[in-house]
Amino acid sequence: MFKRPLISAPLSIGVDKLLAVLRWAAIGVILLLSWLNPERPTHIALILAAYNGLVEVAKTRVRLLQSPRGLFAVDTAVVSLLIFWGGGLDSPAYIIYYFSVITLALDLSLVEATMATVALGLVYAGTSIASGGLPWDIANSERLAGRLSILFIISLVSSLLKKELELERTLAARLKELEQMKTGFLSTVSHELKTPLTTIKASAELLLAGGPGPLNPTQERLTRNMARNIERLSALVGDLLDMARLDEGKLSLNLQRVDLNEAIRDAAAAVAPLAESRGQRMRVNYYPDPAPVVADRRRVEQVLINLLSNAHKFTPPGGHFALEVHEAGPNWLVSVSDNGLGIPRDELEHIFDRFYRGTEHKGGTGLGLSIAKSLIELHGGKIWVESRVGKGSTFSVSLPKELPGAYE
Ligand code: ADP
Repeated sequence: MFKRPLISAPLSIGVDKLLAVLRWAAIGVILLLSWLNPERPTHIALILAAYNGLVEVAKTRVRLLQSPRGLFAVDTAVVSLLIFWGGGLDSPAYIIYYFSVITLALDLSLVEATMATVALGLVYAGTSIASGGLPWDIANSERLAGRLSILFIISLVSSLLKKELELERTLAARLKELEQMKTGFLSTVSHELKTPLTTIKASAELLLAGGPGPLNPTQERLTRNMARNIERLSALVGDLLDMARLDEGKLSLNLQRVDLNEAIRDAAAAVAPLAESRGQRMRVNYYPDPAPVVADRRRVEQVLINLLSNAHKFTPPGGHFALEVHEAGPNWLVSVSDNGLGIPRDELEHIFDRFYRGTEHKGGTGLGLSIAKSLIELHGGKIWVESRVGKGSTFSVSLPKELPGAYE
């Protein structure tokens, strides 16, 4: 089974916002702690909150604050002054250092971030000691050493995380590029194959119609064989082309107001010979009145043919399958059910994946249902399946009668 590669999105989305929220949360905690503990001065927390608010407002206008280096420099200056005047090591303002280090490390290389952190550490140690707010003893040295260690760990982890994010982003970009190359290649190849195939098909039909002269039985058998295989090849090329167009967003619908009953009639007519060849009974319940829908008739027919031919493929000879159409408010509900093999529960969630073929597949590329799903979704509709092994499957399509924004 072939699984579609997953392209992971860059993880950096919202890191700035997350950091801003965390900064506010930290200030909130400082405020709460100073409110709970009367010995702690609340004015430091209030000044920090005012400073942070000012930074948030000024960020949109002042260029210096928009760059992580600028913000780091301003943070260092303001917070160091607050520490110097507001109790040295006792001041909780140092917490802001942690956030500026993260912001900086996410922007600089590991070496630059480490150097900046060393400088910040020296500034912190200098201002704490110089503030003279407390007797400098072993316990306070240990407090300072602990905070400096945390500062370095945060800087290091942020730098490593940044590297990881960059790698992730490069990989995602490369994967996207490869996907686009693959789609482009498939699109070109399918397109190039289409014209010669059409010519071979027309030639085979001409031979069978006896245009160049009557065929003997062996020639006729061989030509029929050729025509059947050209048909299969054309269907495969058509699927690949559809898939590439869907990927490139180039598959446009030819929307018109049509009668759904007519699309159903043509799809049933295409599958009837297949059902007959295996002694299967195909029942079609049309809507009793015209069933108007704004849709691309050829594409709706393509989806119905896919569902009906799957029902035929997965139903044993002599079995039966049915198509029904109902009105469901603003939608038409078309269901195709069979009393065939059914689909195992663990396969159901993959059934609409591209290139997915179940364990009981009967040839095929596994593209049919994924294209059907995309086509129905382009119409603003939905497709889903219910199935039980040994009992059969029901594929349902809900198609809006009117497609918002559609022009006729
Ligand atoms: P393909 O284009 O090769 O026919 P599809 O995308 O139409 O592939 O179907 C994918 C898989 O879904 C099949 O390989 C089969 O395992 C399963 N499947 C589809 N329709 C039915 C059905 N009516 N009954 C049982 N299995 C089905």
